[in-house]
Amino acid sequence: MARVYLSPPDVGELEREALLRAFDSGWIAPVGPELDGFERDIAELTGWPGAVALSSGTAALHLALLVSGVQPGDDVFVSTFTFAATANAVIYCGAHPVFIDSETTSWSMSPELLAEALHDAKRRNKLPAAVVVVDLYGQCADYGAIAPICHELGIPIIEDAAEALGATHLGRPAGTVGDIGVYSFNGNKIVTTSGGGMLITPDEAVAERVRYLSTQARLPAVHYEHEEVGYNYRLSNLLAALGRAQLSRLDEFVARKREIAARYDEELAGTGLVLPPRVPGMDATYWLYSILAPEDLDGGRDALLEKLMARGVGARALWRPLHAQPPFRSARVVGSGQTSEALFDRGLSLPCATELTDDDQSRVIDAVLTALA
Ligand SMILES: *Cc1c(COP(=O)(O)O)cnc(C)c1O
Repeated sequence: MARVYLSPPDVGELEREALLRAFDSGWIAPVGPELDGFERDIAELTGWPGAVALSSGTAALHLALLVSGVQPGDDVFVSTFTFAATANAVIYCGAHPVFIDSETTSWSMSPELLAEALHDAKRRNKLPAAVVVVDLYGQCADYGAIAPICHELGIPIIEDAAEALGATHLGRPAGTVGDIGVYSFNGNKIVTTSGGGMLITPDEAVAERVRYLSTQARLPAVHYEHEEVGYNYRLSNLLAALGRAQLSRLDEFVARKREIAARYDEELAGTGLVLPPRVPGMDATYWLYSILAPEDLDGGRDALLEKLMARGVGARALWRPLHAQPPFRSARVVGSGQTSEALFDRGLSLPCATELTDDDQSRVIDAVLTALA
């Protein structure tokens, strides 16, 4: 029986042709018309003029922190319930991540704990240089509560929207709800360039600085002239061509994922599972359709995962909170950490790929219902 994969890339003839066209054009370079076009497409989609295509979402996070003014020794507040890349980028800057626990509503950063941590930091005269808020599994965080607290203290919000391209917060595209945004085009994300990322900003001067830092901080001169340490973080023109073809299908991808999510919602209701968080004003993409196992389930989440895997259903555990991971053990966590730990203990994602057939979905649903019975 074929396996139902969690989040395979949905690529076909359109993407193949775009890639070959770029190849045949001769622009086998980290610059070129497709790269400019990809940035224009994202700028148009988001309404923010400063879009810079980079080699990964992690690279975009790193540069977002640098251009937000993060310096070695600074504190940076970070969602604890996320992929390691979010905090790794903070470490690259020589800064210290301080982890903020989740709230139960959106599963993302708790605005109450953030407010508490900021007031405490202000009292100690050690405000963070930035706050990195993660939009989880295709769903925005509660910026209505988070943004005013940060802006009152003049602290920039970096929105890690690596998982949330296509989602919205009160009609605003994910990635443009904070002060600077980050997307990932890794192979498992909703839009892929096989590997890649994008930084977006409303400020074109900031975008220019990001472009400069991402190309080894090379100054315009006939020889090689540098005044700062730069990075080799630019996306290639070939991969940008792939990204443009993918991006032209984003609406189709989001619509399809919402359709699959609606079917799961209907057929998994009343089973004791906690279904994905629904927050008024936020439209999720269900990049990964994520649920919590019933509290009293025999063997817990792991038993459920094993039963699904045995039936060829590629389910996956939710993020293990970063404050519980060895590289970040010495970092402070604000709140008990228990909300994100409980999400990890009980949480899993089900396959919700755009190419899932109705039969594939039935297999996923049957496997879940059987495992719970
Ligand atoms: C995927 C992801 C990243 C990293 O993106 P890459 O393109 O793989 O470097 C960062 N943050 C979150 C929340 C992610 O899911």
